[in-house]
Amino acid sequence: MYYNSILETIGNTPLVKLNAVPEDLEGTILAKVEYFNPGQSVKDRIGLKMIEDAEKEGLIEPGGTIIEGTSGNTGLGLALAAAVKGYKCIFTTTDKQSKEKIDLLRAMGAEVKVCPTDVEPDDPRSYYSVAKRLSEEISNSYYPNQYDNPSNAQAHYETTGPEIWDQTEGKITHYVAGMGTGGTISGTARYLKEQNPDIKIIGVDSDGSVYKKYFETGEFDKDEIHPYLTEGIGEDIIPKNMDFDILDEVVQVNDKNAFITTRRLAEEEALFVGGSCGAAVYGALEYARNNSFEKDDLMVVILPDSGTRYVGKIYNDEWMREKGFLESEN
Ligand code: PMP
Repeated sequence: MYYNSILETIGNTPLVKLNAVPEDLEGTILAKVEYFNPGQSVKDRIGLKMIEDAEKEGLIEPGGTIIEGTSGNTGLGLALAAAVKGYKCIFTTTDKQSKEKIDLLRAMGAEVKVCPTDVEPDDPRSYYSVAKRLSEEISNSYYPNQYDNPSNAQAHYETTGPEIWDQTEGKITHYVAGMGTGGTISGTARYLKEQNPDIKIIGVDSDGSVYKKYFETGEFDKDEIHPYLTEGIGEDIIPKNMDFDILDEVVQVNDKNAFITTRRLAEEEALFVGGSCGAAVYGALEYARNNSFEKDDLMVVILPDSGTRYVGKIYNDEWMREKGFLESEN
């Protein structure tokens, strides 16, 4: 028995019960562990789907170049699909991203352009603007734009949602996911709510992002924006893939709580995962403690990526101390 290419191993990731981290909570919390994908993140799902949809629509031709602004995981998902299908890749990313993520993209044959983090999205130096400009300059190129491309949320509607529904035999009562482009939470939640509209959908945002206030007030408040270190969640724009109507609640998590929880997942559950996973689990626990979450409740939390990309940061005591997230040793 074999797969025709590595792309056939994308999806069907396991659901794993959290035993220690939820402490005294009564209901069941299951983690959907997305590092089992071949690129070690949830983004393999959308990399493949965005390229296949572009091929179907004739937006990219053989030998073409894929150009995207990505924090790394989407780049890797696109790079996997591109390598198997014979496309070139150019990615723009920010100087906030882990070196490990950037090296990994280069290892998969992609060209990576590193852009400044602390500029406005419409500044010509921003990673959004550079990706857009390159896609206009280079012929036979395709700019998937994961923020606004409906294939992103659709990938989760077609795969992540049905997998969770089947794996829980329809017993899921709460679904928790980080909010980056919004694709994961919006697509999965749309499928789950179609099966059972009572399922509660909880979005996890980062302190320093506009999402929570926008969800609660409908106001885009630039004063909410400040730099933070959790990679992959929170935004300073409102992407088309983020469907606020499908959410029941948004929980905001700061870097310290995200990273301490990330380390607990590794130490107490042997789940060696990334920082947005700690944020998602912290947000899930906070929601469960502050709302009715009872014995028969079944919560599924998405863990988007692996800890391998954060060994020099979240899993490094010195870095954690330097940032004030760990007490000093003496
Ligand atoms: N966590 C990580 C590590 C990510 O790379 C992303 C993608 N930006 C997310 C969470 C959020 O997923 P989505 O973009 O589907 O909202």
